[in-house]
Amino acid sequence: MKKTPFLTLEKARQIAAQIPTPFHIYDEAGIRENVRQLKAAFAWNPGFREYFAVKATPNPYILKLFHEEGCGCDCASYAELLLCEAVGITGHDIMFSSNVTPEKDLLKARELGAYINLDDATYVDFLASMGPVPETVCLRFNPGGSFSLGNTIMDMPRDAKYGMTEDQMAGAIARLQKLGTRHFGIHAFLASNTTTNEYYPELASKLFLLAVRLRNATGAHIAFVNLSGGIGVDYRPEQPKCDIQAIGRGVRERYERILPPNGMGDVAIFAELGRFMMAPYGHLVSTVLHQKHIYREYVGLDACAADLMRPAMYGAYHHITVLGKEDAILDHVYDVTGGQCENNDKFAIERSLPRIDVGDILVIHDTGAHGHSMGYNYNGKLRSAEVLLKTDGSFQLIRRAETPMDYFATLDCTEFTFHN
Ligand SMILES: *Cc1c(COP(=O)(O)O)cnc(C)c1O
Repeated sequence: MKKTPFLTLEKARQIAAQIPTPFHIYDEAGIRENVRQLKAAFAWNPGFREYFAVKATPNPYILKLFHEEGCGCDCASYAELLLCEAVGITGHDIMFSSNVTPEKDLLKARELGAYINLDDATYVDFLASMGPVPETVCLRFNPGGSFSLGNTIMDMPRDAKYGMTEDQMAGAIARLQKLGTRHFGIHAFLASNTTTNEYYPELASKLFLLAVRLRNATGAHIAFVNLSGGIGVDYRPEQPKCDIQAIGRGVRERYERILPPNGMGDVAIFAELGRFMMAPYGHLVSTVLHQKHIYREYVGLDACAADLMRPAMYGAYHHITVLGKEDAILDHVYDVTGGQCENNDKFAIERSLPRIDVGDILVIHDTGAHGHSMGYNYNGKLRSAEVLLKTDGSFQLIRRAETPMDYFATLDCTEFTFHN
C-alpha cells in the first residue's frame, strides 16, 4: 500500500519555522485511534490490558497519552520506572519486564508496586531477600528450540537469553507459593516485528497450554498471560499490515478452546506492544543539506543515525517521502545519508525517489518506536527534538534537541571550559 505521511509540506514548514529540523513528530490522533482498535480487538477478554513498552518511545508526554487511553507501561530499567512515576503511573499500571536486573531497579519496581516479571528462577530468592514477596508475580518463559509458524522459522528461542525453562517455572512457582505469592502471570516474547496475524494466536496457544500444565503441576492460580510485544508494522509499502481485529479473534479462538474447558476462564490477556503502538505514528522530518555526485548520487540530510539508528544497526528499511513531491515519478536513484563518519549512516541505499533538491523536506516513515529512543551521540552528533502533533492540528515540543552543552554535561568540567 502507498505510504502517505500524516504531515503535509505546508504543515512541516510551519512547524520547522519554530522547531528547526531534524525532529521526530508523533501523531496523537493516530496513536489514540490505534489504542482504541487494539482494545476493541480484545474487548472479549474483560481483563485485557496493554502495557506500552516504554523503551520504544520513552517520553512522558507519550506515556501520559497511553495512560489516558487506559494503558499501563512496561519498563525494563530504573530510569524507565522513574519516567512512569513522574507521569503518575504506578502499581499494577506498571509491568517490570527486565533481565540482568540490578538490585536498585528491582527495589524501585517493588516500591512502585509494579507487577514484576522474573526473567530467571534465581530471581525468586533475590525478590524474597527484599521483604515479603508480592501477591502476584509474573514469570518469563523460554521454550527453547525454534519457533515456527507453518513452515517458517520465526526465531530461535534456544539462542535467546530471556526467560526460563518450563521446569524452572514450575519450581519458581512452588517456591513463590511457599513464600506467599497467590497469583501468577506467564510471559513470553518469541519473535519480533512479525507481520503475520498468526504470531499472537500461536504464542497464545503455547502459553495457554503451558498455563494449564503449570496449574496442574502446582495448583497455582494463573491470573494472566502476557503476550508481550512482537506485533510488527508494514515498514515497506508492499508489506501487508497486521489486522489487529483478526489477531484478537485468533487469540480468542485459542483461549476458548483451551482455558475455560480447564476451569481457567478467568485468565486475563496482557500485551506489551511497543512498535505496533507507535512506529507508524512517528516521522523523522529532515531537510536536505547537500547533494553530491560521485559513483552514486548522494543526498545528505540534517538528520543522521544519531536520530534513527535502525537502518545502520539492522539494515532496516524506512520508507521516505519527499514532501510536496508525493505524487512525482520516482525517476532518480539516491543514497540518502546522514553526516556521521560511518558509511553505514544511510537512511536509504539506492532508493528510487523523485528528483531531490537542497532544501527539500523529507519524511522518514515509521520512526515512532525504537527511533529517537535508540539514538546515540557518536561523532558528537546531537539527537533531535521530539514534537507532538495534536489532534486539533496544533503542535507541541515535547523534547528539545540536544545542545553541545548536553553532550558535555557528564564530563568533569572543573578543568575545562566549553564555550557554546
Ligand atoms: C522490546 C520489548 C517489548 C516491545 O516489543 P515491540 O516489538 O516493540 O512490540 C515488549 N516487552 C519486552 C519485554 C520487550 O523487551
